[in-house]
Amino acid sequence: MYIGGEWRPARGRDTITVVNPADEQVVGHVPAGGAGDVDDAVRAARAALPGWAATPPAERAARIAALRDVLAARQDEIAETVTAELGSPLPLSRSVHAALPVAVAGSYAELAASYAFEETLGNSTVLHEPIGVVGAITPWNYPLHQIVAKVAPALAAGCAVVLKPAEDTPLTAQLFAEAVHEAGLPAGVFNLVTGLGPVAGQALAEHEGVDLVSFTGSTAVGARIGAVASAAVKRVALELGGKSANVILPGADLARAVNVGVANVMANSGQTCSAWTRMLVDAERYEEAVALAAAAFAKYVPGERIGPVVNAKQRARVRSYIEKGVEEGARLVVGGPEAPMERGYYVSPTLFADVTPDMTVAQEEIFGPVLCVLRVETYEEGVALMNASPFGNGTAIFTRDGGAARRFQLEIEAGMVGVNVPIPVPVGYHSFGGWKDSLFGDHHIYGNDGVHFYTRGKVVTTRWPDPADAPAGVDLGFPRNH
Ligand code: NAD
Repeated sequence: MYIGGEWRPARGRDTITVVNPADEQVVGHVPAGGAGDVDDAVRAARAALPGWAATPPAERAARIAALRDVLAARQDEIAETVTAELGSPLPLSRSVHAALPVAVAGSYAELAASYAFEETLGNSTVLHEPIGVVGAITPWNYPLHQIVAKVAPALAAGCAVVLKPAEDTPLTAQLFAEAVHEAGLPAGVFNLVTGLGPVAGQALAEHEGVDLVSFTGSTAVGARIGAVASAAVKRVALELGGKSANVILPGADLARAVNVGVANVMANSGQTCSAWTRMLVDAERYEEAVALAAAAFAKYVPGERIGPVVNAKQRARVRSYIEKGVEEGARLVVGGPEAPMERGYYVSPTLFADVTPDMTVAQEEIFGPVLCVLRVETYEEGVALMNASPFGNGTAIFTRDGGAARRFQLEIEAGMVGVNVPIPVPVGYHSFGGWKDSLFGDHHIYGNDGVHFYTRGKVVTTRWPDPADAPAGVDLGFPRNH
C-alpha cells in the first residue's frame, strides 16, 4: 500500500487475489487492508494537508501536469494492466482506459491554475479553500478513469486524498500510485489502501479524519455510505447507477442512431453507468430498427471486439437478468443466457425486442451487454416512460427536428443529454453527472464544477477603519490607500 509517500505492507496478512476475467487466471495479489491501514493513511493525509493546501495553485497545477505526463508515458503498461484485470480488449484499453485519464488529468492541470480560488462579490471576498482530506472509493468499470476523475480535482483544489479502489482492479490503482510518486507529489498528499469494500471502504467512509467521501458504484452500497458519511457530518458525493435511453424520433437517420446506440451499450461490455441500455423507436420503423440492431450486434464477437464482464458474480447477475427477460416475455433476437465461451466471464451480447416498460429488463440496471428495444407510439409516451425511471443519468435523442430536440432537452429528467451524438465525451471541461437516483450530492465531475466540489467557501466581508486613525508606520494589515 502507498502511504505517506512510501510503499509498505498492510498491518494484517490478508490478501486479495486478482483474476483476469478473460481467462480466469490469477494475475496478482494485493494486500487486503483493514481499519488500521486506513487510519495510517488518513493520518498521513492529514499531516500532508496543510502544506499542500498552502502550495500556490500554479505549483499544484505543475505537479498534476507532471502526473499527467507520467500517465501518458506509461500508457502501454496501463492498458495492459487494465486488460489483465478487467478483461477489456487491448484496443479498448488503449483508446479509453489509458488515454482518457491522461486527458482528464491534463484538464485538471489547467484548471488548477485557472480556477478562481478567490472571488470578489460586492464588498465581500469568497475564498474557496480545500475542504480537507478526501476519501475516494472507486468502482472497477473504468479502473483508472474513476480514480483520476476523483483524485485530480481533489489535488487541484488543494486536498489530500486516501483512495480505496475496487477489489477487482487494484493493480491499476497501484500503477497510479507509482505515477503519483514519480510525478513528485509531496508525501502523504495521495495515499492508497487496497482492501475489501465492507472493511477498508467502510473504515474510510466512517473515519473521523475524512472530511469528504466521494463514491462511485452501486446504489445499494452508495446509500449505505451516504448514511454513514452524513451521520458523521461529512460532505458526500455518490455517483450511482443508471438506465439511460436512446430515443429515435421518426425522420431520424435510423441506421446511424441504431449503430451509435448499439456501440454505446457494447462499449466496455455494457459496464458503463450512462449506457443507453434502452432504445425507444416508433411503431412504424420498429422492426427495421430491430433488424439493424441485430446486424450491428454481429460485429461484437466475444473475445474479439467485446470482452467479458468483470467477475463470476457479475456474469451470474447479467445472465439472470437475461433469463428474467425471456421469462417475462421479451423477444430474444440475439444472444441469450448461455455462455458464449468455455472460459472467462463472458456473456453473450443480448438483444431483446418487444420489451414493455413493466418488464424487469426495462427498469433495472443490468450492467452487461444487453439492449432492450421498446416500441413507443408518441413522443410524449417516450418522454413519460423515461421520466418514470428512478434513474436520471445520460440520455440521447436522434432527430432531424430542431424543435423536438429543444423540447426534449427541457422535458427530460436527466443530467446529460446528447442530441444525435453519444453522450458525453468526458474529456475537457464540461461536467458529468446524473439526476435523481443516479447522483447524490450534486457532484458534477470535470471542469470547474469538479474542482469546486472539493472546496469550501469562506466569505470575508470587510469594512476598513479610517487609516487616518492609525499612526504612521504601523502595520495595519490592510492597505492605507483603500
Ligand atoms: P460497488 O458499489 O459494489 O463497489 C464500488 C466500490 O465501493 C468498491 O471500491 C467497493 O470495494 C466499495 N464498497 C463496497 N461495499 C462497501 C461498503 N460497505 N463500504 C464502503 N465501500 C464499499 O459497485 P461496483 O459493482 O464496483 O460498480 C458497479 C456500479 O457502479 C454500477 O451500479 C454502476 O452503475 C455504478 N457506476 C456509476 C457511475 C456513475 O458515474 N454514476 C460510474 C461507474 C459505475
